[in-house]
Amino acid sequence: MKLTSAMIKEEAKELGIDVIGIGNIERYKNAPELMSPKTYFPDAKSVVVIAMRIPRGSYRGIEEGTHWHNYSFYAYNKLNTLFRPRLTYEMACFIEDHGWEAVPHYPSVPERSPAHSPVAEGKVPRDVSCSIRLLGVGAGVGEMGHSKVFLTKEFGPRVRLGSIFTDAELEPDPIVEPYSICNKCGKCVIDCPGNAIPPVKDEDKKITVEIGGKKIQWGDVHMGRCTLTHHGLNNTISPFLKNDFPNLEFDATSSDVTEEEAYRLTYPLGLGTWGSNFYEENGGSIIKYYKYILNHCGYFALCGAKGCIRACMDSLEKSKRIENRFQNKFYRKKAWNIPIEREGEKVGVINPFREEGLDKLYPGIRDGEQEKSKF
Ligand code: SF4
Ligand code: SF4
Repeated sequence: MKLTSAMIKEEAKELGIDVIGIGNIERYKNAPELMSPKTYFPDAKSVVVIAMRIPRGSYRGIEEGTHWHNYSFYAYNKLNTLFRPRLTYEMACFIEDHGWEAVPHYPSVPERSPAHSPVAEGKVPRDVSCSIRLLGVGAGVGEMGHSKVFLTKEFGPRVRLGSIFTDAELEPDPIVEPYSICNKCGKCVIDCPGNAIPPVKDEDKKITVEIGGKKIQWGDVHMGRCTLTHHGLNNTISPFLKNDFPNLEFDATSSDVTEEEAYRLTYPLGLGTWGSNFYEENGGSIIKYYKYILNHCGYFALCGAKGCIRACMDSLEKSKRIENRFQNKFYRKKAWNIPIEREGEKVGVINPFREEGLDKLYPGIRDGEQEKSKF
């Protein structure tokens, strides 16, 4: 049955897909075997990529320092696991209604996938996982920003991507000319609280690949520092960490942990409990908010992409390099910041659980205790 790119784009409009692009399979011929759509679906002729916007307002609570879980819920978990995949699924069904196979690609993260052995001799291991952002580049949906975040000319960095491989031969869209959206302004580098994005001018810290004859480059982001910060092990961006670990002087910005190590630290910390915390009502969580947000939102994006999305979108809006613009500017007041230093020298009994608990249960019983404990 006849299926054209124009028909797919018409359907995308009907479905409410924000951005769509199509690439021919030849553009991905240099992809490593375990990241190639051809390994996934050897008869694939085209790659369809969709982008759904992150509402700018989903950053407002974190920007104000007044509300966190909205961003994790709408802009991460539900956008990545419900809103966007539903449309990828609908589009795959539309393609198959026309008699062409459509593989909706689960956007796993290759570097976080475990290694397996092949199902049979001569097969590649069953660990194929394509880079969703590079699929998007090859489909002409947008480009890689210096920050490694995908940028579209419609919404800049405020997008989540989905992709479909099909054996239908479709008219491809042109690849977006590299650096036609990102102008290397460096705002992402300056505002990244994890010190994870390398300086724009540091040529040694650039990743380069070739897609469809174009040289595609981005900064070699320190994923360990980003993961620590993003998942709240950075006192400068997390009032919750600061509240429950006020004396922690851990500096994520100079850490050299790997991404995997950072995950192994931050998730157990987020979900962790401690028995001596028996005065707390929240099941003994060592950081009360982290367990709450993980349980309620399925994710915890504590940094709120301060550099790689918020600063970037502001820069792109101001320089009019993206189309989705607003009546009012994004930054409306001076950014809040939490100092990394501990709160001051403590004297006497320094177990806040004991202190708070006793104060709550027996008001007044500790009067003068701090002074006496100096002797
Ligand atoms: S802030 Fe955005 S536009 Fe500026 S260098 Fe970073 S990725 Fe590029
Ligand atoms: S998520 Fe936060 S820490 Fe990670 S690169 Fe973006 S701004 Fe930096």
